[in-house]
Amino acid sequence: MLKVVKFGGSSLASAGQFKKVADIIKSDPNRRYVVASAPGKRNSHDEKVTDLLLQCFRIRKERRDITPTFEKIKSRYQEIIRDLDLDFSLDADFDSIKTAIEHHASSDYVASRGEYLNAKLLAVYLDLPFIDAEDCVFFNERGVLDMEKTCRRISSLLSIHEYAVFPGFYGVSPDGSIKTFSRGGSDITGSIVAAAVGADLYENWTDVSGMLMADPRIVENPRPIEEITYRELRELSYMGASVMHEEAIFPVRKALIPINIRNTNDPAAPGTMIVNKAKSNSVDTVITGIAGKKGITALHVEKEMMNSEVGFGRKVLSVLENYNVPFEHLPSGIDTMSVLVTNKSIEEFKGAITADMVKAVNPDSITLVENLALIAVVGRGMVNTEGVAARTFTALAEANVNIRMIDQGSSELNIIIAVEEKNLNRAIEAIYNEFAQ
Ligand code: ASP
Repeated sequence: MLKVVKFGGSSLASAGQFKKVADIIKSDPNRRYVVASAPGKRNSHDEKVTDLLLQCFRIRKERRDITPTFEKIKSRYQEIIRDLDLDFSLDADFDSIKTAIEHHASSDYVASRGEYLNAKLLAVYLDLPFIDAEDCVFFNERGVLDMEKTCRRISSLLSIHEYAVFPGFYGVSPDGSIKTFSRGGSDITGSIVAAAVGADLYENWTDVSGMLMADPRIVENPRPIEEITYRELRELSYMGASVMHEEAIFPVRKALIPINIRNTNDPAAPGTMIVNKAKSNSVDTVITGIAGKKGITALHVEKEMMNSEVGFGRKVLSVLENYNVPFEHLPSGIDTMSVLVTNKSIEEFKGAITADMVKAVNPDSITLVENLALIAVVGRGMVNTEGVAARTFTALAEANVNIRMIDQGSSELNIIIAVEEKNLNRAIEAIYNEFAQ
């Protein structure tokens, strides 16, 4: 059994957190490769080291002195070193990083130093080798990860190291410059390392005990999700439920490696397992999770005998394509077709798009309904269970929520419902109570 473990910023924000991380790693010898984030917030008023580094970058650009902000960064690490009683200093690194920032280092280089320093420090504390991501995570000329080259290098490096610590979040471009993933990208590094070494499990340690069935800001004390498939996760994260960086799914998913979301502050909790194929198809709640997002506009196009007009759908969609507007959903009736898009994508072109559609398909009517919200009711258990739709709609009716659109995914993995934005929370609560209580 081989595990790759990634610890997020809050898991490595202080000496106290470092101790918890060390306990977790030492309690299981299978936890062999560790990926570290930069120190995150210690409390809600705190600043993340990555944000402080990016502040330094901006201050330098304004030709001001970075020293006060850089001192804050230094003291974060120095405090951890002191509180862990380590005989170790990062002073040489601090000096060279500060000089680099003052001499116009790129923002990617600057942002990446939080992970670099933290992984180095964690490696010393755990007494394990430090492997710099600069030496093994490769991007190509187009700035895209070169997975093949990266995997080859990581697996050859790790053939000589039974245990190692890596900094997350960055790698190197062909010209030798540092390049980062987007924010939160240490999750991606963890996933890449797990795929490269063919891990049995990718543990992603954070500050929540896994995913919850619904947003805790909407539903009080929602149930945790024990097991979720990659496909279900994709449906929920599309609707805004987020537990890790979206791009982090792909490397492990391709390699069929499960992800276990765990809580550093509650290591006994089993967390959420994200798997390719669930152990059983029947979730006791039938529904795995519910998520929703606001900011949707529906464009209803109506035309009698539309069903027999070849190319109707293509013409409607090509108008959107001309304005670079992607569609989110496409429910259709016999003489109607609705295109759901985000408010943001269509905002500037509403008038022009409607006019072009009139020209393109000569419809009987076009209506634009703005400020809708989409809700996804997701569950692999739905396929074999009767009455899920009926229960969902009854719950919504009882909560006085008017349904503006329904779309059941072809996989029967989800039911998508559009409601008015103002009804979103009430709708989620009603569906949750119907299935989870
Ligand atoms: N430290 C980086 C960030 O704050 C990357 C990460 O934590 O995953 O975005």
